[in-house]
Amino acid sequence: MLSKNLLLAGGAVIAIGILGGGGYGYWILNNQNISLQNKISELQNDNAALQESLASTTAELAGAKNENSSLSQSLQTEQNKNSQFEATIKDISGTVAGLKKLSETDTQLLKKYSKVYFLNENYAPASLSAIDAKYLNDKTEPELVHSGVLPYLTGMLEAAKRDGTELRILSAFRSFYEQKNIKSSLTVLYGAGTANQFSADQGYSEHQLGTTVDITTPEVAADFSLFEKSSAYTWLTANAYRFGFILSYPKNNTYYMFEPWHWRFVGVSLATRLHNENQYFYNLSQSEIDKYLISIFD
Ligand SMILES: [Zn+2]
Repeated sequence: MLSKNLLLAGGAVIAIGILGGGGYGYWILNNQNISLQNKISELQNDNAALQESLASTTAELAGAKNENSSLSQSLQTEQNKNSQFEATIKDISGTVAGLKKLSETDTQLLKKYSKVYFLNENYAPASLSAIDAKYLNDKTEPELVHSGVLPYLTGMLEAAKRDGTELRILSAFRSFYEQKNIKSSLTVLYGAGTANQFSADQGYSEHQLGTTVDITTPEVAADFSLFEKSSAYTWLTANAYRFGFILSYPKNNTYYMFEPWHWRFVGVSLATRLHNENQYFYNLSQSEIDKYLISIFD
């Protein structure tokens, strides 16, 4: 009996021991679990806080970006305004320079002359230069030309020479009084009718400008009737425009008698246009011609 009781008691002790030990293990595990859960929730809190701060940082960054792009937009706008302003300034100074240049350019240089419109007898070119005697038909009689025209004239005479064509200047600038004398001597020789046709008002106006020359060759000299058939005339017809010279009174013009020797400087741009369009000076309107005045010596 005792031994049975003892056995029971021993069993109970063992059972308590086991139960007690198990309870302790559970308690420990439970505690660990709680602390883990606390850690997780701590981490979750941290994470939420981090996400919050990330979101606010992103928002701030986006705000900053917007601000930046609106700033660079304003900068662009200012830059555009600036370059527009610059362009306007350039335009204005271009116009001012153009007007200054135009005001300094003799408006008579591209005028069409007629029996009702011709130069004042007191008109004289701003500046005249002597043509080198080697280019003159008569080397003992000096000839003057508008100083702005001289380099173009010399360039043309030299270019012709390189092409095997000798050109000579028979007459260049003539004052109103010189012209008047020529006209009266022609009147004496041929009678008033022929003289008017030969040397009418517009013809002498062009010589009085200092921009017009009568061209001949050593062979033709003063015998103008031969000039039309000369190789010099053919050369001039093909090349004079490159040096700004045009034939004032071409064949079959309705304005004035044909003068193959009489060449007027109108500037390279206008002469080139007339040459390319097969037009002649006196057929263009004065307002169309005047557009070339500013660039006459360019
Ligand atoms: Zn002439």
